[in-house]
Amino acid sequence: MWISKTELANEINLMTVSGRASERLGRMLLLIADGAARRYATGLEHDEAVASAVCHLLGVIDRYDPHKSDAFSYVTTICINRFLHMRREVRFRNALLAHVRYEMGGEDFRPEIPKYKNCIGCGKEKPASAFGQDFIRGLANKCKNCNRR
Ligand SMILES: [Zn+2]
Repeated sequence: MWISKTELANEINLMTVSGRASERLGRMLLLIADGAARRYATGLEHDEAVASAVCHLLGVIDRYDPHKSDAFSYVTTICINRFLHMRREVRFRNALLAHVRYEMGGEDFRPEIPKYKNCIGCGKEKPASAFGQDFIRGLANKCKNCNRR
């Protein structure tokens, strides 16, 4: 399937109006995410990266503004950002795991505790202090700001 920018923009517009994604839009997003993952999701599990990007896209695609960018670059940029986010999460989990192992006496060196994490509420990268006590236990996924809402 070859995707034209105009067709993609039309499908996004249809979704914004109707509130639901057409099968055609779903196929387009899958194809773009798949292509983007081949190029930019190195170090991540391919299918997982594609699925995560498409899920994320379906949630934010109605924010697309045709005056700011073309639909294809918009969708591709969101995919690439998603892969970066996933890579940060993997790094964060590994660092935290290493820390827990150290605390349990399984490692000889003291690993560095991650200082930043992406909040699943606002999507922003925030320092440990923004997550409170649960950060170090690996339980905090939302920053204090998002938790209050
Ligand atoms: Zn937040």
